[in-house]
Amino acid sequence: MAKQKFVPNWFSEITPEGTYRSLFKWGDPAGFKHPNSGLVHLLMDTYHLTKADLQKPVELGLEKIEGERRINLTSSQLESFRSICGAENVKTDLYSRVSRSYGGGMIDALRLRRKIIENIPDAVVSPRDQQEIEKLIAFCDKERIPVNIYGAGSTVTRGIEAVKAGIALDMSVHMNKVVSFNEVDQTITVQAGMTGPQLEDILNHAPEKLGAKRAYTCGHFPQSFEYSSVGGWVVTRGAGQNSTYYGKIEDIVIAQEYVTPVGVLKTSEHPRCAVGPDFDQIMMGSEGTFGVLVNVTLKLSRWQPKNRKRYSYMFKDWATAREACREIMQSEFGFPSVFRLSDPEETDVAMKLYHIEGTAADGVLKALGYKPMQKCLLLGHTEGELAFSRNVNRQLRRICLKHGAFDLSFAPV
Ligand SMILES: Cc1cc2nc3c(=O)[nH]c(=O)nc-3n(C[C@H](O)[C@H](O)[C@H](O)COP(=O)(O)OP(=O)(O)OC[C@H]3O[C@@H](n4cnc5c(N)ncnc54)[C@H](O)[C@@H]3O)c2cc1C
Repeated sequence: MAKQKFVPNWFSEITPEGTYRSLFKWGDPAGFKHPNSGLVHLLMDTYHLTKADLQKPVELGLEKIEGERRINLTSSQLESFRSICGAENVKTDLYSRVSRSYGGGMIDALRLRRKIIENIPDAVVSPRDQQEIEKLIAFCDKERIPVNIYGAGSTVTRGIEAVKAGIALDMSVHMNKVVSFNEVDQTITVQAGMTGPQLEDILNHAPEKLGAKRAYTCGHFPQSFEYSSVGGWVVTRGAGQNSTYYGKIEDIVIAQEYVTPVGVLKTSEHPRCAVGPDFDQIMMGSEGTFGVLVNVTLKLSRWQPKNRKRYSYMFKDWATAREACREIMQSEFGFPSVFRLSDPEETDVAMKLYHIEGTAADGVLKALGYKPMQKCLLLGHTEGELAFSRNVNRQLRRICLKHGAFDLSFAPV
């Protein structure tokens, strides 16, 4: 029997600017996607919560972040930052300092809900171009001022915390432009502070925006896509939902340019090199400790969303699902794009989330031997050139059915 719907007393007001909440609420300040009743019941069961527990919102973080906190920089150092980047690009108010040192992880959200302010920079400095970054790094190196680089602030590893204060070097304000576009090589060079949506918007509309012959995609779609930067993807060696087809970010990057305390490091735009070591690979994943990533050259792919073919299959257990996935990856007919296999626990959450648990469809699956906490869901899509996409989808289907999967592709979840 499906459980009765229960809707907690969700907070659904637009997030006020300048508040703690404005930093920990994920997504559009005016947008809401509350957990559905399936997920609510799962949370209540897992954490032994009662309906009463969920009636009164707590720690909403609606208070403004304001007040004074010690600034360790001297007024002459602050003046130097202003003369390098312009006074309007040097901020010392508390909200700016907190906003550039708290990321998107659970620990960040919990600390903000509890109004715990720690590890903040003394000032937030937003350079307007590479020359200003070079001057900032030289100055901070000379004065021994710590530099904490901020891309778009979606870190889940506390990567932007200013443990030793200093400055937050904010790439998000000005460093988000196209540097060059090469349609012959199918590459684009962008400044590292460009966000995912900014990049894809330009590429998907390349004929209008870049005078290109066709539309393109970068193919990198982390779950934090909307709120992360190209530079952040590279220095965290990120993966995206479509990485099985397009590759991880280190497969997409062609060249990089860093400003470091000992000078500028620019790698070459050749796709491969016969001498080693490969500086591109050494620099990627450095989390900002090796220098400021200023420009990134990315490999592009043709944007062909119409060729996507979706699929979803339910397997009886993890071992069978894993075998099928291994065969798909080793059969050399090409790779699917999104290729996501959930273990029994995650599958169970999905069944609740999508209200399948307790329905007639769930009953049919059970009767056929697809049991709760054993069955595994595989879902995704293929893409690329149409015949290729179709063929990968067909071959994938053949292998899944051979391993006893139930085809749910008619209703992909
Ligand atoms: C809901 C959610 C989902 C996520 N999903 C994914 C996912 O699917 N895949 C994935 O890989 N990650 C994911 N992440 C983690 C995070 O989004 C990535 O690590 C992202 O690449 C960080 O980019 P950013 O621009 O937000 O960087 P920031 O958070 O600003 O910085 C991250 C680190 O990079 C450094 N840095 C940033 N820009 C530069 C630069 N220009 N030069 C030098 N150093 C720099 C910072 O100092 C810091 O150490 C997710 C995070 C959240 C909150």
